[in-house]
Amino acid sequence: MQQSNFLEWIFEAICKFFEPKPPLILPPAPTEDDDMVELTDGWPEFDGPLKRIPRNRKEMVEIYGAPNVTYSRKGVVRISKEFAKRFHTVPADLLTGYHRRIYCHRDFSPYLREALRRAQMVAPGYKFERVGCFSPRHMRHSKNMPLSDHTWGVAVDINASRNRARYRKPTDPRPFEDAWYENGFSDLPESVVLAFKSVGFSWGGDWGLGKRGGYHDPMHFSLRK
Ligand SMILES: [Zn+2]
Repeated sequence: MQQSNFLEWIFEAICKFFEPKPPLILPPAPTEDDDMVELTDGWPEFDGPLKRIPRNRKEMVEIYGAPNVTYSRKGVVRISKEFAKRFHTVPADLLTGYHRRIYCHRDFSPYLREALRRAQMVAPGYKFERVGCFSPRHMRHSKNMPLSDHTWGVAVDINASRNRARYRKPTDPRPFEDAWYENGFSDLPESVVLAFKSVGFSWGGDWGLGKRGGYHDPMHFSLRK
């Protein structure tokens, strides 16, 4: 074990020891008859380290910092060393219901942890097999698009292979309709989406729902308004 890894491990162990663990007071898991939206009405807001959740790119830079990206000769996006200091690795045992560690923005991880805890409470049967977070890149992997929130380490893609991004036709089933699941568009229960939203996340499954359809990305949850 390298010395720096060892020190990091000690540091994490100390942090974990002192970390307050407030009791999670939430209603019991929903039954099929429950109205999902009403169900989460009484959920407490999550009081995380951010003064507010950013609404746009300018506020993201103010609140999360500027990634100051550069490009390798092959066009791979890299964040600055300075910005990388704002990142850390959250060990798997702090992530309810998930079995891998996650590398992300330090101010983001408390929200992710709370979202996973709430999701586990309301959808104990849902399995988080892959949660992708930090990935410096442009939206839709196109350099003509703005940088993706994954560049800031403040967005997650949940079980990507079962919740693919695509262009949604106006006639396609809407999220959580039976046909939405039957067509394999997603496997996310509404309660998981509501758990994430209750902490302050916005959801890519809300995109492309207008009359003309559009880009729809159910795997994607971002800590911005
Ligand atoms: Zn994403």
